[in-house]
Formats: sequence, structure tokens, C-alpha cells
Amino acid sequence: MRYVSTRGEAAPRGFEDVLLAGLAEDGGLFLPESWPHFSPAEWRAMRGLPYAELAARVIHPFTGGSIPFETLLGLCRDSYAGFRHPAVAPLVQLDSRAFALELFHGPTLAFKDMALQLLGRLFDHVLAKRGERITIVGATSGDTGSAAIEACRDRASVDIVILHPLGRTSEVQRRQMTTVPSPNVANLAIEGSFDDCQDLVKAMFVDAPFREEMRLAAVNSINWARIAAQIPYYAAAALALGVPEREVAVSVPTGNFGNVLAAWAAKRMGLPIGRFIVGANRNDILARFLASNDMSAKPVEPSLSPSMDIQVSSNFERLLYGLLGDDPAATARVMREFRATGRMPVPDVAWRAAVAEFQGFTLDDAGTLEEIRRVYRASGYLLDPHTAVGTAAARALAPENKGMPVIVAATAHPAKFPDAVEQATGLRPALPPALADLFEREERFSVLPNDLREAQSFVRSHALRNAA
Ligand SMILES: *Cc1c(COP(=O)(O)O)cnc(C)c1O
Repeated sequence: MRYVSTRGEAAPRGFEDVLLAGLAEDGGLFLPESWPHFSPAEWRAMRGLPYAELAARVIHPFTGGSIPFETLLGLCRDSYAGFRHPAVAPLVQLDSRAFALELFHGPTLAFKDMALQLLGRLFDHVLAKRGERITIVGATSGDTGSAAIEACRDRASVDIVILHPLGRTSEVQRRQMTTVPSPNVANLAIEGSFDDCQDLVKAMFVDAPFREEMRLAAVNSINWARIAAQIPYYAAAALALGVPEREVAVSVPTGNFGNVLAAWAAKRMGLPIGRFIVGANRNDILARFLASNDMSAKPVEPSLSPSMDIQVSSNFERLLYGLLGDDPAATARVMREFRATGRMPVPDVAWRAAVAEFQGFTLDDAGTLEEIRRVYRASGYLLDPHTAVGTAAARALAPENKGMPVIVAATAHPAKFPDAVEQATGLRPALPPALADLFEREERFSVLPNDLREAQSFVRSHALRNAA
């Protein structure tokens, strides 16, 4: 199994290189050169397997023989052993048609744990084999930082430093990052904004001598291994609902397009998914694209579903490559133009291919609160504001998707967004017991001014102390 870049100017690489590199050298994203495929009988044989075993079977072909199956199975078992539900990603029926696929039973209460718990262990496995170490550096406005820290804590070959803007994350978000006592984890609060943190991280990656000295790496959502690790839960849910004997639809609250792309990847592997619903809040670039081939970036506006407050969805490039007939030169041209003008010139034939499979849906904040209230009144089930976009989309588009059950990706636990849930229902969801003492735990973080040299020497001393 080799991986090619969507822009075609980087040499094909194996799984381990793709895992460690993240982005290709030509600025493109890695995709498998040819897709692994399971027959209906092979899918059927996976129905009802324990989650970790199903995950290992689905992911193993992507490793291209670089990781023995038994080893991968061990990593998957270890990754999901700490989840708070024995099914790992249980399916909860909401009405006659919609099912919530609960992806929030991991350590940070959001779906990113599903992939990142495995990613951290894959890093460790590959690095130990090579006798190497890496330093993960990232900036966060709140959520992704804690998922990355939980993924990397206590990994022997990985150090991690996460920058957050001092005083500008919620207390739950900060505490989820700063109360992790592992020696390989460091938190840096920067006297500045989230953009300042992001600029510092970018500057560290651009500083080539520093990047090599520290073996800097990222865990952002363009890493192919993250997408691969998100495919199994769609397979598990679809099989439980009667696939491959029938088709299902999926409805995914979307930001960077990674989660819905994993469902699309499952289809390329032979799983009959009839429809992909892309849910958006007022940052509706993807919905506008699907409605009228208008992919033009506007300024990002804050909403009740902050993980979807994105205008440029980095993983969309992988779908674009497929829509353009796997043509890297055409993909590179379209992406260059998008970068230059803020408007993506998608050829009409490619747009038609997209709308044959994908549907867009937009919900504003008032609609989101109304949906949380409605579902709570109808079934007693509490939705977080991201998932609410997905359930509203499933219902609104039901007439077009006759008969298909809809898997709604429930991407966050309602207790992660208690203010919105309380505003909608009058009920304040409690944190799960494992996190109930979050406010009593000891915090550890350092504060630095917005200064590249100081931030770099902090990263260096953290990495050197642990390597010693
Ligand atoms: C990250 C995130 C999303 C968006 O997922 P993408 O893969 O970026 O599209 C949606 N909801 C929640 C709660 C998230 O944390």
C-alpha cells in the first residue's frame, strides 16, 4: 500500500512515513494509491465484532503490511479500553429513522478521541521500532489540545507541548489540558490570542534547523491515519443497521471535513452508504458549495458549535481529488486558485458528482437551540449543539432520502457544552463521573509572552529533559 499526494509533486510514501509526515512536501494531502475493498460477505462477517477487533480489521489494509495484524489489534484494544461505554461507539435510536452514533465516550468527551487515541499509540509503535523520538507542538483555542494531550500522555517516544491563549479558553477546556500529570506533557499559556499561538507554532515549523533538531510533528486532522481510524465506526453502525443488505445515510456535523470524509472512504471500501449529509452552522461554505457550486470563503463567525466555525475545510481537498477523477494536476490548479482568490473554481462535472452523493444543510444558533429542545421533549435525549445540527439535517432531508436509516455522528457529549444545553432545555448536563473531580485536580502550565525565542527555548528544554 503506497500513498500519493493530491497535488502529485511528492514521491509516493509508505504508511509509516505518511503517519509521521502528516502533510506531503508539495502541500498536498496523502491518499491511498488504490483503495482496500471488502466484499459484502467480508463486511457481513464483521457484524457484531467487538469494536477494537472490527477497527483492526478495517484499518489493517491501510498499514500496507508495515504492522502485523496482531500488533495492530493490541494497539486498538489498548486505545479503546479506557472508553466509558463497553460498546465504545454505541448507537442510540432517536426516532423511527435517525440513530445517534455516540462518538464521545473517550477521555475528552468528543469524537476526536476515537482517532487520536490510536494515533498516539501508532506513533509510539513506529518510533520505538525506529529508535526515534518526536515532539508534537500544537496551538489550541480549546478542544483539539486536550484530545492531542490525552493521545500522547505517557507515550515513551513522544513529547507534546500545547500552546493556548492565556485566559481565553473555558475553564473546563483549560483544566482538561493542564491537569494531566504526565512528564512528557507540557502546557504553555501565551499572553496573546489564539492567532498568536498559531503563528508561534507555524513559525517553529518554518524554522528548519529547529524543526529538525526537535523532530517537530503535528497531529492535525489532515493526517491520513486519523481518517483511517474514523472509518471503523461507520462500518460498525452501518452493519448493525442492516448493511450490506440495505443502504444507510450518514449525517455529520462538519468542520474540517475529516469525519464525513471517513464515511466516504468507507464507501470506497465497498460499504453501501447511500447519502452523505454535511451539516454546517452559519459558517456555511460547504453547504453553499453543495447548493450552488459557490465555494467562497467568508470571515469565520462564532457560533454555538465552535468546532464547526471553519471556512476552509482542509480535508475537502481529498474529496476534490476524487471528484476530479484522481487528477493531481487539476487538484493543484484548483487549490492554487482558491488560495489566491478565496473562491474555488470547481468544474461543473465535478460539482455534479459531489451532489450525487452529498447533501448540505445549514442551521443557525436559534435553530440549534430549538433542535436540542425538540429532541429532548420528544425522546428525553440531550444533544450537544454540534450533534443537533446533524439530527436536524437528517429530519429535514428525510423526504429526499426515503426509507434510509440515518446514522447521525454524535460528535460531543452534551456536558461539554452545558450552557447551550441548559439554555435550550433548562437542564445542565453533568460531567461523567471520571471527570467529576476535574475542578479539584492540580493544574500545571507555564506562562510566556508572545515571543518566538522564548517559546522555542521552552519547547527545547521540555524535549531535552525527557530525552535524557
Ligand atoms: C472536530 C469536531 C467537529 C468537526 O469534525 P471535522 O472532522 O473537522 O469535520 C464536529 N463536532 C465536534 C464536537 C468536533 O470536536
